[in-house]
Amino acid sequence: MDKKLLTPGPLTTSLSTKEAMLHDWGSRDKKFIDLNHSIRESLVKLIDGENHYQCVPMQGSGTFAVESMISSLTSKDSKILILINGAYGHRMKKMCHYLNRKCIDYEVPEDKTHDLNEIEKIIDSNKDLTHVFIVYCETTSGILNPINKIANLVERKNISLFIDAMSAFGALPLSCKKIKFDAVAASSNKCLEGVPGVGFILVKNSLIRNAKGNCHSLSLDLYDQWQAMEKNKQWRFTPPTHVLAAFNQALIEHQKEGGIEGRYHRYSNNCKIICDGMKDIGFKQLLPDELQAPIIITFMQPKNFDFNNFYDALSEKDFLIYPGKLTVADTFRIGCIGNLNEQDMHNTITAIKDVVKKLPTINY
Ligand SMILES: *Cc1c(COP(=O)(O)O)cnc(C)c1O
Repeated sequence: MDKKLLTPGPLTTSLSTKEAMLHDWGSRDKKFIDLNHSIRESLVKLIDGENHYQCVPMQGSGTFAVESMISSLTSKDSKILILINGAYGHRMKKMCHYLNRKCIDYEVPEDKTHDLNEIEKIIDSNKDLTHVFIVYCETTSGILNPINKIANLVERKNISLFIDAMSAFGALPLSCKKIKFDAVAASSNKCLEGVPGVGFILVKNSLIRNAKGNCHSLSLDLYDQWQAMEKNKQWRFTPPTHVLAAFNQALIEHQKEGGIEGRYHRYSNNCKIICDGMKDIGFKQLLPDELQAPIIITFMQPKNFDFNNFYDALSEKDFLIYPGKLTVADTFRIGCIGNLNEQDMHNTITAIKDVVKKLPTINY
């Protein structure tokens, strides 16, 4: 029995997803080539992007996919506005610096979303802006950024929108028919409940076709990866075969659950059980309900609270939580995604109640 991972990924996967890794696959063999193709098609379908978007997988963790998207789909002539309210927005800014891409940013605190009027002002006073980058669910806090409204504004200004949807993809809506974006990056091991090791970029046809020569790096070059995969449906370099086999199985289970809607429903229910249960114990949630995405929840650390003791005691009961990542306050996080159900959430709360009783009296 594995411990339950109440984390944003890697997370708890189903037995059948793990079992999909019990085989060895020839990377040039038809069976694997078909599996790879099926994954790419399923991912395009999840954004209703048939005929308009290409799916290009990229080996590595999610960060590799984001860096591949930025380096390959922008150029030295681009000027990017990054909307920051957490660590992953900061990470995109850092990438732009590494990649020598001109960028400005608009940062708000980790528990706030961006002001749309302010975004509009920044766009209007920077006529040379070509791109806006946004994180869908900022996993730092678990905040849900208003992607719809931002996409509408950015479209109206005729600017290209790139989304880091790493911790949202597969659980929060992202139909390209409703949300106008040019590229999105995500990975196998968050809401799609695969194992870690591969990310992917969904990009508009016209954009990837014109992306030749942008990337400074061979291994991260999305255009080259796409070209090679289009030519013979194979990977340029050694593919993460087992990870892809598990991903394929995870995608089948995602569809069986009712796709994005089904998953959203289970995660929302999980989230509510955790939030209600923690509140009942006395913990304070960082975000108001309307800003809370049903992905990962940040709780304030009470004053006389020893996180390491709390973590170890919960781990002994087979529940793994996540430390906080806020710069402004001491917090910890509980994820509600992965192959976990209502009962797992109730068991988590029961375990926390039990642990808290044994710790020195907590001053909530
Ligand atoms: C997890 C995550 C990433 C990528 O992280 P990796 O550790 O490289 O997989 C990027 N952005 C967001 C919003 C994330 O949640």
